[in-house]
Amino acid sequence: MTQQYDLIFAGGGLSGLTLALECAGRPFFLGKKILVIDRDEKDRNDRTWCFWATGDEPLPPVVFKSWEKCLFFGDQIERVLDIAPYRYHMVRGLDFYAWAKSEMAKHPDIHRITANILEIDAVSGTVKTDRGDFQGQRVFNSAFTKIPVLPAANAEYPNPPFSISGNPAGPEHDFTRLLQHFKGWLIETPSPAFDPGIMTFMDYRLEQEGETRFVYVLPLTETRALVEFTVFSPALCPAGVYDAALNRYIREFLKIETFRIEDSEFGVIPMTDYPFTPVSEGKVIHIGTAGGFVKASSGYAFKRTQRKLRAFADAWEQNGAPDPAVLRAAWRFRFYDSVMLRVLRDQSVGGKAFFSGLFRQLPPQLVFRFLDEESTFADDLRLLQAPPTWPFLKTALKQLPVLPYI
Ligand SMILES: Cc1cc2nc3c(=O)[nH]c(=O)nc-3n(C[C@H](O)[C@H](O)[C@H](O)COP(=O)(O)OP(=O)(O)OC[C@H]3O[C@@H](n4cnc5c(N)ncnc54)[C@H](O)[C@@H]3O)c2cc1C
Repeated sequence: MTQQYDLIFAGGGLSGLTLALECAGRPFFLGKKILVIDRDEKDRNDRTWCFWATGDEPLPPVVFKSWEKCLFFGDQIERVLDIAPYRYHMVRGLDFYAWAKSEMAKHPDIHRITANILEIDAVSGTVKTDRGDFQGQRVFNSAFTKIPVLPAANAEYPNPPFSISGNPAGPEHDFTRLLQHFKGWLIETPSPAFDPGIMTFMDYRLEQEGETRFVYVLPLTETRALVEFTVFSPALCPAGVYDAALNRYIREFLKIETFRIEDSEFGVIPMTDYPFTPVSEGKVIHIGTAGGFVKASSGYAFKRTQRKLRAFADAWEQNGAPDPAVLRAAWRFRFYDSVMLRVLRDQSVGGKAFFSGLFRQLPPQLVFRFLDEESTFADDLRLLQAPPTWPFLKTALKQLPVLPYI
């Protein structure tokens, strides 16, 4: 028998848990039956989220470590960036999931089950799983991400969890599809090797190999740090490339000879200007990566997910109905992202030159505001002059035919 719910969250990771808790905490949703379905118990530290935020930003109370200073190494720049009033925060996936579970336990109307979702019927709102079928008045999907075909993944890693769908603008429109792929090691050293007060935001000193490649370092103590090698490119690297880059970086740039790898993470994030429309289909609204929440040009999504879903729940409470339009970024920022992605893909300006230009010439607070989509048009004009301007203008002109679709 199909069990009935008011709201079903198909996928209980970052976005599913965030919205389920946003809803459960509001009087408007009191008495509504809510179900969160995930195939994973979420009892492992499957990822580490980092992001910048000011003290005014409401955040889940699970920040593991924060830094007030960031290092940047690029083209003609090696600088400690003083980012106040921002701080750079780190949240461990496991802490977030444990907190979300304990919050959900306070709300008798939220249920969570561990089940593999096989299919979602958007018309009826039925979520078919290997543990039975569930029907919702509204279904929020973050389990299935539909974006156009991405390049084949390296066989040594599982395929990134992105499925295939049509191109809404027709085959003649060439959306940009890059992957942000990264491998990180949590390392421990026998003697002090890190300053836990300064994190490395981007270090571009490794060879770029015609791509955008950088390392970031999150020092937890003087002897422990997470070191992540990150690449923006159309396809994954052979597995050995990540390990070789991490080894070389740790030995040559951090000057550490002896270390122990405590833990490691590998991740793939889509970077695309694919428009993810429709954001809603029948009773289903797509959220998280599936709803296009990942900032196309940077891969950041944690704070955006919190902000978007808070605004969405506010609007739903006020208007009495959910409005998926609240979830979309302003057109101006979608256009900038689309241009930036294409510039990166064509390597007319690499990430190293782009970010070096920004941090050499502008205060980091302005760069963060821009990436947070909070900059004014006057800010944007300042920003546009910092990196090599001509390749961006040329690409912006080439992107004009895609304008109606992004
Ligand atoms: C390793 C990694 C590190 C990242 N680091 C950062 C960062 O530092 N900063 C930042 O801003 N962003 C980061 N991101 C990007 C983004 O914030 C995360 O991917 C975020 O978790 C996306 O939220 P989501 O809800 O869309 O997906 P998820 O959090 O992945 O949730 C989707 C859920 O759906 C479940 N699911 C999938 N298929 C099924 C199925 N068939 N049946 C049942 N359940 C299913 C999964 O188990 C998962 O729990 C990172 C991403 C990864 C992969």
